[in-house]
Amino acid sequence: MTTRTLPNIILTGTPGTGKTTHALLLAERCPELKHLSINDIVKDQSCHEGWDEEYQSWIVDEDKLLDAIEDQVKQGGWIIDWHACDLFPKSWVDLVVVLRAGTEVLFDRLTKRNYPEVKLQENLDSEIMDVLIQEARDSYDDEIVVELQSGDADELEANVERIEAWLEQWKKDNQN
Ligand code: ADP
Repeated sequence: MTTRTLPNIILTGTPGTGKTTHALLLAERCPELKHLSINDIVKDQSCHEGWDEEYQSWIVDEDKLLDAIEDQVKQGGWIIDWHACDLFPKSWVDLVVVLRAGTEVLFDRLTKRNYPEVKLQENLDSEIMDVLIQEARDSYDDEIVVELQSGDADELEANVERIEAWLEQWKKDNQN
């Protein structure tokens, strides 16, 4: 049993699978939940050890990141949007949604982002090899890990509705 009055939800998946799109729509539909963009925290609060030129991304300092978000996340009510999940302590997390997309869809989305070739390929490989779903299953109890397809707008809508329904049930189950 948790002392949180609202749950914390991790939205994870390979870059381009739709984490931010889902997080923004979910936060719009459920105003009691707030979007926590780990990308923004890393950048704005300098939770990194510098910039990786080859990958065009920050080298994240995980300890500093966890320190930066711990107090607020422990209050509950956060949608945590990040392409990794194993760094967040189990006790902080009530639901882990792993978003998936087919290779062609993902290729198109990442190409539009002008990813460097090496980063594009690595992300496609990661999706094909089930890296994020495996990481989620290795890090959290099976009952709280959900894998959802995010190939098109209908799936986005269905996913957000499903998470909204889950939230309502969570609130009933965790009434004080
Ligand atoms: P992530 O946060 O996982 O990197 P984004 O939410 O930024 O991914 O989505 C990447 C791109 O793919 C955006 O242009 C977004 O509009 C599109 N996209 C993501 N999910 C879907 C979906 N289910 N249906 C249609 N377009 C999507």
